[in-house]
Amino acid sequence: MPGRSGALAARKSGNLPDQSLTANFPESLIMRVLLVEDDSLLGEGLETALTHENYQVYWCRTAAEALKVVDLQVFDLFVLDIGLPGGMDGFGLLENLRKKQHRQPVLLLTARDSSADKVKGLDAGADDYLSKPFDLDELLARLRALQRRAVNRETTVLNYGADLKIDTLDRSVTYRNQPVSLSRREYDLLLFLLEHQRQIFSKEQLEERLYAWGDEVASNAVEVHIHNIRKKIYSQLIVTVRGVGYVIRDIEP
Ligand code: CA
Repeated sequence: MPGRSGALAARKSGNLPDQSLTANFPESLIMRVLLVEDDSLLGEGLETALTHENYQVYWCRTAAEALKVVDLQVFDLFVLDIGLPGGMDGFGLLENLRKKQHRQPVLLLTARDSSADKVKGLDAGADDYLSKPFDLDELLARLRALQRRAVNRETTVLNYGADLKIDTLDRSVTYRNQPVSLSRREYDLLLFLLEHQRQIFSKEQLEERLYAWGDEVASNAVEVHIHNIRKKIYSQLIVTVRGVGYVIRDIEP
């Protein structure tokens, strides 16, 4: 998505949180929103408003486009309109996303203020919904709430198998009861992979996850982080899938 990334990078430059200020908070990860909305005016307005609130937004107009994009890029939140053109509506898109194991929070936008739609949406796996027309401030508040809920789920000690333990409150990692000292990016990468077990990510997808669009990233940055994580924890923790990418070993949380 070269054109869009460029525009976003320009808008975001100089705006990114300083590492030292944010190192203790899981929120330091850049929040990426997939917005699926066919109405140009509303889509554009939402893209601008969310970008202004420091979200990184990718805007699609159809479910088919959205399903392609989620294979290429990792998102934190989905905002889906229900009434979409092209044969698949927001409900269908949501069902497909959940089928593809995308468990991120979903906010549905509906023009129809019927309780049947609300029930259908929540049954299909939406976390919240908002009826059009809505107030922008309300949308932002709902997104923050979804984000908080997602983050709060993380603010405890996570055990991965018997040996690996992560405390997301102070971002500390222990392996076999020994503290492991990871850099900020190494920690973010490890936690991300642990939260997406069984999913294979290409180097580019991991780069996009770890760095803001427009950041200068050394071409071997991801390899270096993975090398360090393996060295500091254990060498088989992250598996290289030749020609495809990386996947973390299956560990029960
Ligand atoms: Ca629509």
